[in-house]
Amino acid sequence: MDRCARRRLRSALLETAPWLAATEVGPQAVEAGRCDACDESPRLLPTCGPAGPGAVCRVCAVQLGPDGWCEGHQEEGAAALVWAAALPASWAELVILWWVATGEVRPTAWSELDTSVLPLDVRRSLPLS
Ligand SMILES: [Zn+2]
Ligand SMILES: [Zn+2]
Repeated sequence: MDRCARRRLRSALLETAPWLAATEVGPQAVEAGRCDACDESPRLLPTCGPAGPGAVCRVCAVQLGPDGWCEGHQEEGAAALVWAAALPASWAELVILWWVATGEVRPTAWSELDTSVLPLDVRRSLPLS
């Protein structure tokens, strides 16, 4: 995927999912990869609690609740959970594609990526469909 194609994908993604632009939460706030707790879904939120496992997916973040954040970051943690709860069901696909668009993940590296759940203009920007 060349730089132009990646840029096209990035703007298509931002149009569909403006929340991808966040830098304190979401795919820009964590290292590209799978959740440090379940090793399945993509990472979405960084945690910092004493028992915090690292960067976690939405489901694991909800399970952790306030335990995912240290005493000084309870407010940020609560806001992050509210933010994550408002994301669409296809958040995982969109997060993975964001990393594809930034070059952090190869389009073929995430084998179970289901692009059929994505809006048409995002799918059109994909090299793999
Ligand atoms: Zn998880
Ligand atoms: Zn903290």
